[in-house]
Amino acid sequence: MTRTSSPLWVDTPVWQSGPLSTASGKTTFLKMEAFQPTGSFKARGMGAACVAARDAGATRVVCSSGGNAGYSVAYAARQLGLPATIVVPRSTTARARTLIAQQAAEVIVHGEVWDEAHAYATELAARTHAAYVHPFDDPIVWAGHAEMIRELVRQVPKPGAVVASVGGGGLLVGVVQGLRDVGWTDVPVLAVETEGAASFASSFRAGELVTLERIDTVAVTLGARRVALRSLELARIHPMQPWLVSDRAAVDACLRFADDHRVLVEPACGAALAAVYDIAEPLAGCDSIVVVVCGGVAVTLAMLDEWNRSVVSR
Ligand SMILES: *Cc1c(COP(=O)(O)O)cnc(C)c1O
Repeated sequence: MTRTSSPLWVDTPVWQSGPLSTASGKTTFLKMEAFQPTGSFKARGMGAACVAARDAGATRVVCSSGGNAGYSVAYAARQLGLPATIVVPRSTTARARTLIAQQAAEVIVHGEVWDEAHAYATELAARTHAAYVHPFDDPIVWAGHAEMIRELVRQVPKPGAVVASVGGGGLLVGVVQGLRDVGWTDVPVLAVETEGAASFASSFRAGELVTLERIDTVAVTLGARRVALRSLELARIHPMQPWLVSDRAAVDACLRFADDHRVLVEPACGAALAAVYDIAEPLAGCDSIVVVVCGGVAVTLAMLDEWNRSVVSR
């Protein structure tokens, strides 16, 4: 088995975007997490969790994820020489399954949605004495994601807001924790979801964790029925605003971003970009914005074209 021959994660560039700055009327910076070796910011937190598992003596890892977390665990485990099993729900795209298998991980399909895959994976990990790597609800994962803000503070002047997508809330918690670590405690975070995956917005409004009945969105990597409790706790001490966009807006943003910056991203990331292209109201008062371009591997030109034709108009 190869030793670490490729970095688990890298420092990512920040671009001042001409097209997004023009569209939004604000100086817009892009934190290009799409340029991680696994195509998304998940390389950071999942990589850190795999290193911690190895350091704690684990001889194998198990993760449940319909996409980028599973792919990043498969990648990190392979680089660290640990066998990995990734449990994915049936909703996971064929492309994501193929990519995970290409990282030499075992892929098990279980359940209709992530929650069912997660329940099976935790049980499998306990039964086989493997380390379970949670895709979004773990302090090690948050600390890994928070690194991107420690980089950011050296790359841009203090922005008026940071825009990030929310699935299970791991990215959100990491970003907020990072902002607090570097002393940017007054920089608000716009927490963007698609309407069919509004688990953070629902919980934020209710003031307590809400479990959604179902997930219905093209942005499958945002599809957690319930967010990490930590995201709500942080919402009490850090300025945060939930924001919802339609699937159509997320897909349009992916297409527009591909033209503007020659980079393909998943609709999960398109959601955050849409909030800027369409100037989400909470951003109106900001002079400058940082968008976390979270990326995602489950996207091809053909998939974008298919979403463009099948997702209903706004
Ligand atoms: C995982 C993921 C998200 C959501 O991150 P959470 O930590 O689950 O909130 C957003 N975009 C992409 C591309 C992802 O892979």
